[in-house]
This record gives sequence, C-alpha cells and structure tokens, in this order.
Amino acid sequence: MDAAEFRRRGKEMVDYVADYLENIEKRQVYPDVEPGYLRSLIPEEAPEEAESYEDVVKDIERVIMPGVTHWHSPYFYAYFPTAHSFPAMLADMLCGAIGCIGFSWAASPACTELETVMMDWLGKMLKLPEDFLAGTEGKGGGVIQGTASEATLIALLAARSKIVKLIQADHPDRSETDVISKLVAYSSDQAHSSVERAGLIGGVRMKKIPTDDKFSVRGAALHKVLKEDRAAGLIPFFFCATLGTTPSCAFDCITELGPICNAEKIWMHIDAAYAGSAFICPEFRPLLNGVEFADSFNFNPHKWLLVNFDCSAMWVKKRSDIIGAFKMEPLYLKHDHQESGLVTDYRHWQIPLGRRFRSLKMWFVFRMYGLKGLQAYIRKGSNELNETLLKRINSARKIHLVPCQLAGEFVLRFAVCARTTESRHVQEAWSHISHLASELLQELPH
Ligand code: PLP
Repeated sequence: MDAAEFRRRGKEMVDYVADYLENIEKRQVYPDVEPGYLRSLIPEEAPEEAESYEDVVKDIERVIMPGVTHWHSPYFYAYFPTAHSFPAMLADMLCGAIGCIGFSWAASPACTELETVMMDWLGKMLKLPEDFLAGTEGKGGGVIQGTASEATLIALLAARSKIVKLIQADHPDRSETDVISKLVAYSSDQAHSSVERAGLIGGVRMKKIPTDDKFSVRGAALHKVLKEDRAAGLIPFFFCATLGTTPSCAFDCITELGPICNAEKIWMHIDAAYAGSAFICPEFRPLLNGVEFADSFNFNPHKWLLVNFDCSAMWVKKRSDIIGAFKMEPLYLKHDHQESGLVTDYRHWQIPLGRRFRSLKMWFVFRMYGLKGLQAYIRKGSNELNETLLKRINSARKIHLVPCQLAGEFVLRFAVCARTTESRHVQEAWSHISHLASELLQELPH
C-alpha cells in the first residue's frame, strides 16, 4: 500500500468506523458465538502470497464483527465503562503514524514532554496537591501507565524497594530476602483483584482489611491489624486504598487512613480506577480529600474521561522513589540530558521499556472538550440536569410534575393521579418527556 492508496483506504476506514458507531445500537450487544468460532472462518496458516485490501476488509464483517462484544453500544451495561471519543481516536491514529517508542526523553522529546505536561494539566483539573505535579522544579509528577493494575504493582514494588533500603540502612546485617519475608501489604476486602495480584507478583504477604457497613475501610480497622502484625514481628509497608470499589463504588476513608500510614511509614497508594474521573467536578472533589497523605494516586481516564484505552494516569509525590526502584542504565539508552534534572526518562517509571505516544489522546481530548465539556460529560444525568429538565417540562405546560429527593438524588416523580388518565395519556407524557430530555442533552457540549 503506497501513500496514495493509504489516503483512499484511510478515508474509507474512517467512514466504516463512523458508520459502525452511528449504527452500533442496531447490532446485538453480545455475540452469538461458541468458543473456537473464529478458527473455522480463516485459514490455518498465514497467506503465502499477498492478499488485496478488499479481501481483508470484507472479512471484518464476516470474521470479526460476529465475535465482537460491543462495549460502546448503549445496551452495554456489563463490567465498567470504557472511554471513547472521536478526538481520542484521531490522536491514536497520529500516535500510530509517528510510531515512536518513547522510553527516554531523547528517544522522542515531544512524547516525554507532552506526557509530563498533560499529567500536570490533569492533576490541576483534579486539584491534586502541588507535591504531585512535576512543574519545572517539582519532585513529584505523573506518568501514563497502561492499566490501574500496573500502577498498583509499580507502587507496591517501589514501596517494597524503599522499605528494604530503609531497614537495611539501620540493620546492614539483614538480608533483602529476610526483610521481604516479613513484609505485609494491605487493602480493603472490597479492593479489585488486581491489588491482591500485585502482592502475588511482588512476592509479599497481602492482607484484606474488613470494611464497615458502607463497604469502606476505616482508620480503626487498619490500626487494629497493624498493631497485631507489628506484635507478630511483621513489617507493614504498603496500603492500597480504593476510591470507588468495583462491586459498589465504595470509598475508603482516606482522611483517617492517610495519617495512620504516614505515622507508620507505610506507603499509601490510592486506586480510583473508575471513580477518579469524577473528581474533576468540584461537587465530587471532596471524595478525594485525604489524597495529600498518599504517596501515589491513580485513576483511569480510559474508563470515564473520553480517552480511549489505554491511558491510566498515575502520580507520585517523590518520583525518586519510583525511579530509584527500577533504574537500569545500559550505555545504548544513555543521552546527554538525562542528569540535567530538566527531563525524565519514563522507562524508569514502568515495567516495559517501550511506550507509545499516549499523551496525544489526552491533549486532543482536553483541548477539544475543555474542562467544562469534560465536567458536563461526567455530570450527564446529574441533579442539575434533572432540575433543568423538570423546569422545562413544567414551563411547557403540557404535563405537570413535582420532584422528590431520594438518597441525595433529584428525582422526577411521575404519579398517575386523575380518574380519567388512560394508557395513551401516559404514553404521550413519556414521549413529551423524552423529547425535552433529548433536546437538553443535545445542548450539552460534545
Ligand atoms: N481497580 C478498580 C477499583 C477497578 O474497578 C478496576 C477495573 O474494573 C481495576 C482496578 C483494574 O483496572 P485495569 O483494567 O486498568 O487494570
């Protein structure tokens, strides 16, 4: 395929994608296939001779689509949301075209620098404490990881390395193996399985702290376990708090837990994988109070902030903790600016060496939505929106409703009151409400 054909095929592919997304609700959300369905539809081996683009494209509908679960269908209510937007898709296209591997500043300066600045932009949207921002002189900073699971693992490994060094500084006779065998990490009993897995991969004991009746870990519960474990000769070193648990979106009480972790020199990591995007709205930001006690914080813009997978935002207060834990400096990766303090080499912040230019997706999305657009997206269906809808319904004078409050939610209350009401009146009222609601939603910035 040469550039001329790429131009043509690229436009066709954009049309295919736009058609797919515009008509997605007509597709069955969950596929009707049995395991192994695909093997029988394609040859056993890769073709010896090149095939045409048409041949490949026609197999998208024949081979791929029958086995796709349509995560972006309005009928998809499983697992969790995965973010999606046209600006992010276009940015991903550019990322593929540039195709750099940004493991160090020198490997592609724009890739590193845009990431540092985008993580600062996002950190400011969340009103993170200054300590987490890189700025030009900060000691903290953000990095894009692939997933929240990786962020938790990296935080746990960095904390492990830090505590081993700390203990060995006081007790040079203690071996690393001895210290690691006594380490214990903690999370909520509601934490995502990736947290327990981080403990397994990191080779440390992991304990689950019981939650209260709101599925939240409280300070007293952590305190009790820490006391018991210290008495048993164990070394608590890491606590992973969850803000927005997977089963019920519960929030651990980090304003109680943070001071305990700080006093006990335990690394506090916060996993806000799904709920974290909401903190860009001032009305939800109080849920993040206590982040000032954390050593690291992570959430997934790829879940709810319109940036396509993969984009998991992680911040640390002291980047030297994370860089110090994983630094390898082979000669072939060195460059002139690495000790200047002006740049970072993101390969030290993550497990793989290679990394894509993922910050382009953030840049496109943040600029094309603006903070207000992103907030409006998070608030879609909010109390304010419901209140506006009710005002419009009542001022149109066709039907009349009053609201009520249910567990803090502004709810439009539809009561069938008159002796003369028939089913057709209810249908009519419903189509009137739906019409006004669609009008209102269309006015929101896209
Ligand atoms: N943490 C929480 C609270 C989650 O809800 C999830 C996914 O649902 C994860 C972690 C794992 O996310 P990822 O797929 O980015 O590793």
